[in-house]
Amino acid sequence: MAIQWFPGHMNKARKDITERLKEIDVVIELLDARLPASSANPMLARMAKGKPRLMILNKQDLADPAITLQWLAWYNAKPNTQAMGMDAGERAPAQKLVAACRELAPNRGGLEKPLRVLICGIPNVGKSTLINSMSSRKIAKTGNMPGVTKNEQRIILADDFELFDTPGMLWPKIEVEEGGYNLAASGAVGRNAMDEEEVALELLKYLLAHYAPELAARYKLDEVDGRQDWQVLEMIGKKRGAVLSGGRINMQKAAEIVLTDFRDGQVGRITLERPDEWLAWEKRAKVI
Ligand code: GDP
Repeated sequence: MAIQWFPGHMNKARKDITERLKEIDVVIELLDARLPASSANPMLARMAKGKPRLMILNKQDLADPAITLQWLAWYNAKPNTQAMGMDAGERAPAQKLVAACRELAPNRGGLEKPLRVLICGIPNVGKSTLINSMSSRKIAKTGNMPGVTKNEQRIILADDFELFDTPGMLWPKIEVEEGGYNLAASGAVGRNAMDEEEVALELLKYLLAHYAPELAARYKLDEVDGRQDWQVLEMIGKKRGAVLSGGRINMQKAAEIVLTDFRDGQVGRITLERPDEWLAWEKRAKVI
């Protein structure tokens, strides 16, 4: 099953954004540093063509630092685009973002021509947290549930700096299957739109290929080399007491443990995709 999620309000968000973009000077897109390409919105990239863009790789504290560098280079090589890594809760880097926006639109600013910045990002990526860090007052609601931010709001960060916050927005069709799984693993997809066991197995497959030592260490597993994803899920279930009567492993429970641990950064600093992998996935999905 591929992951699909496009709640009704997102359709409206698309229309609102097209309208809003007409008067926007800089677009900030907040990406999840653990899945930068999967969490980027291809529709937004098309709609915002020609506008200066700031790509923020957020939650970099949870991502693999070496891979984050690869992604920053990838985005910085794109026209009109500046990329930076961030931990949305930290105030100083968030304040630097304000300065970066001003640099990207040097002809705006001042009371006559306030700088208008649109901030976008998938649910749960840390948008509210970042907005709070950028401003001096506590304004945005934060929460751990996908889709908390529903209605657009305009936030006056300074007399000549307006920030437009959009509702959490995915896109009509997730074209790259791996991207769907990565979004689901990150917590951006509502629980009812995914099968947790399937998502956990895909996650384990990737971890076994790229982060086997971290995985083995987290769950105190002796031997993961050559194991299948489902075997490892069983081993984790057994270790963590996710066992049904009769001794069978409760795979659903084990899957929940794996997903929660990953989201909380308990398995280590992990990134679920690399630029070269992403290109190969896109090619296979015939996106490029
Ligand atoms: P929104 O749905 O995009 O507005 O996301 P929130 O700002 O509500 O953040 C979702 C969750 O991610 C919250 O539990 C935040 O504390 C957490 N979070 C946000 N930014 C970061 C970050 O840079 N690093 C880490 N580790 N957690 C973050």
